[in-house]
This record gives sequence, C-alpha cells and structure tokens, in this order.
Amino acid sequence: MSNVRVRFAPSPTGELHIGGARTALFNLLYARATGGVFVLRIDDTDLERSRPEFTTGLLESLRWLGLDWDEGPYKQSEYLEGYRQEAERLIAEGKAYYCYCSEEELKAGREEARRRKKPYLYPEKCRDLTADRLKRFQQEGRKPVIRLKIPRDGETVVTDKIRGKVRFDNCNLDDFIIMKSNGLPTYNFANVIDDERMKITHVIRAEEHLSNPPRQQLCALALGYSLPYYAHVPMILAPDRSKLSKRHGATSVEQFRQEGYLPEALINYMTLLGWAPEGDREFFTMAEAAAQFRLDRVNKTAAVYDTAKLTWMNGHYLREGALDRIVALAIPFFEAEGLVNPPLNSEQMGYLEQVVELVRQREKNLLDLTRASSYFYNNHFDYDPKGVKKHFRREGAGQILRALAAKMKTLSDPEPSTFSNAYKEIAKELQLSIGKLMPLSRLALSGRTMGPELFDMMAVLGPEKVSARFLQAVAYIDAGS
Ligand code: GLU
Repeated sequence: MSNVRVRFAPSPTGELHIGGARTALFNLLYARATGGVFVLRIDDTDLERSRPEFTTGLLESLRWLGLDWDEGPYKQSEYLEGYRQEAERLIAEGKAYYCYCSEEELKAGREEARRRKKPYLYPEKCRDLTADRLKRFQQEGRKPVIRLKIPRDGETVVTDKIRGKVRFDNCNLDDFIIMKSNGLPTYNFANVIDDERMKITHVIRAEEHLSNPPRQQLCALALGYSLPYYAHVPMILAPDRSKLSKRHGATSVEQFRQEGYLPEALINYMTLLGWAPEGDREFFTMAEAAAQFRLDRVNKTAAVYDTAKLTWMNGHYLREGALDRIVALAIPFFEAEGLVNPPLNSEQMGYLEQVVELVRQREKNLLDLTRASSYFYNNHFDYDPKGVKKHFRREGAGQILRALAAKMKTLSDPEPSTFSNAYKEIAKELQLSIGKLMPLSRLALSGRTMGPELFDMMAVLGPEKVSARFLQAVAYIDAGS
C-alpha cells in the first residue's frame, strides 16, 4: 500500500450533485490507481444548512454509484473540541488573536471596498490589542472571533497537480477568521485540521475551491502541519456552457437514478468529464479507468456535460449488462408502475427476464424500458389512434385478425420460429404478404405501432394471450368506436 490518502468531503446541505459525484470518483480513481486510501468525511459544521437526511442521501448515492470509501464517514461535528484546542494553541503561540470588532464596526470598511471594487481586507484593528483593551472587551461581554496572523509580505506558493505551481501575494490576504464567535471553526481552518489528522496527502476537489489553498496553507504552516498536494478538477458546464443547473434536467445522482440511469453508465460518463484515457476508448469499468488514472491527465479546462452522450452510454449498458443485474435494477421500476408485485416467484421472474431482454434492445433507460413493457403485463390498453386509422379501419382487418386468432390457438410451442412459420402459412391461405399482416398484428398485441421484433414479442406473450388479444381487437373494430 502506498502512503497516498485522499478524501471526499461533501457538505450535507443537499443531494449529491453530478459535480460532487465526479469529485468523489476522481478521488477514488486516484486512490485505486496508487494503492492509496479513500476517506469519506462529512463537512457538517454549517449547522444552519446541514441536515442529517442529506448525509443519509449522500451516503446512499455514493453506495448506489459503487463509490465505496475505505474509511469514514468521519464527521466534523464530532471534532469541535479539537478545532477549539488548535485555535487556542495558535493564540498561545502568538499566531492568532481574538478579534472583538463587531459587524457594525467593520461595515463602513466593507462598503468602501465594494464601492472601489476592491476585495475587502480586515484592517487588523485587534491584531495588537493591549492587555487593558482586551480585558475591557471581555468585561463588556463581547464574543470574539479568532483571526490568523498573516505574514504582511512574501508569497504563498501552492502546488496543484493539475494546474502546476500557483503563486499568491500575501499582501492580498487579510487576517481571516478561523473560529467564529459561536465557537465553530470556519471552513478553511476545519479543513486543514481534518486533512492533517486524517493524514491526507492529496486534496482533490472542485475548481470552485481554487482560491482556498493559500489560506489553507497559511493555516497549516501556523499549525506546524505538512502541506498536502492540491488538484482542482475542472468545472462541469451545461451544454450551452452556462453553469449546470436544474433547468438543464437531472443534476443530482438521485434524479438520474429515478430517471432510470444505470450506475455503471454514470460512472463511465463522469470518468470522461475532464479526464481521458490514452487512445480513444470510450467504454470502461471503474477498475479499468483506475488502472490508467493519472492526475496530470486531468484537463484544466471545463468539461461540457452532454445529455445525449450520457443517454447513449446508458443505452449501451442497458443492452450489454448482465441480464440478472439489469432485471434486479428494473424490478423497482416495474413495481412502481404497478406491473409486478415483488417478491417474484420463479415463473414471474422468468417472464420478467424475457420481457427485459427483449425490450432493452430498443430503450435507453430503465424508466422508458418499463413503460415500453407495460403491454406484456396489462391485457387492456389504448390503441394508438394513428395506427387505428391506418390498420384497423382497413377493409377486412377484422377478418384477418379473426383468422390469425384461430391459427394461434393451434400453436403450442411458443418459439419465434413457430409464429413466423404460422404467419407464412396464413399469408398463403389469405393470399396476403406477411408484411401486411405484421403492423396490424403489432397494433392488436400492444396498442403500438412500434416495438420489438413481432415474433419475439409473440413468443414472450405465448399463443393463448396472442390469440385473445387478436379477438379483443376484433371486438374493438366491430364496435366501430
Ligand atoms: N465541504 C467542502 C465542499 O463540499 C469541501 C471542500 C474540500 O474538499 O476541501 O465543497
């Protein structure tokens, strides 16, 4: 095992978004590529926005995707005393200080900065408070924040495995807050302490955090910690290159799951959002991607999300996946549509397998597959109106269907070839081409004008049902409605 340790540190403030899932995936791929450890941490110190049900949802989404972590989940909320102790140590060492400035007192400065379109820098009023003033503030009962003393000159150099070395002038940073007045650590401070205590070697996370490493490194240096490497993975943009949001359709893993996407398709697709293996191979498993994954092959530029490609990939995995796995994933969808009622006995299971095997050839996701399978379960359905006009309202349609129904009754072996042979015979008898019989039959059997191969469909339904549905169509035609 190498010493590489990476982490995914979501905040439990919502569902797992595709961007977060991709960050988790790249962490996992890097851990697997290097023989390292993948840690899961829940950044839940934002008490107002964090909710336990979001943590549950995050874990479920990660598990569903197969993004299995090796350690954790650790929770920041379980380590609050640790952050406080480290902050007090910095104060004792003269590297941090209590600041009693109220929001009110700082307001004018902030407004001035906004007006001049300059970043706001804290004026360091409390950096060198005399003991007397400190005491007075304490006596007034003011609740202080704790700020880190930033070196007034020099630069902070951050090594990013994707972007190279990035330099920041310290004079552009102010003495930022590390502990809030409510006793909770700020994001930058808690993260640095967590990364140290979890011995994280590589911080792989979203590009939106690109401005944080200087502050985090300054915290780490003050605390006497070693510095991790950083790797900021590129943004994921919508097809129109705007920020990916709800109006672009599903954006959370849970939504993709509900829409019938397969975890292996999402994983494969997300792997290509900002990374590419050598050559032009597009389909691979997580293990195959991990075998080749390198941070220096991650793009610097934003990845553009392409729904059509994801859908196409999903269709591939739906068709090619092991049948028992696809059936297992499909059962909840069939249940939700009221087509099956688990647990299924072996006969019901066998029927479902035949249906899925047939219908998955044409569909792109589990939801569509389920809806396209409904007539295998429901004997009553509406007929497509255009189909009715074209096929049922034709002279002799009822007679043909009656003849077909009679013929079907004589069949016993439900193989596609049995049906195709029977159709050859009946076409001859009626002096019609098979091509004429097929669309009419399809409409009578499924209510639709399109679907799987007709004789395959008949083989699944079996001669008895086929015959009954032909007669049902005859009754519909005779009723003339
Ligand atoms: N909780 C932070 C987030 O969800 C983690 C950032 C980091 O990985 O350092 O964005």
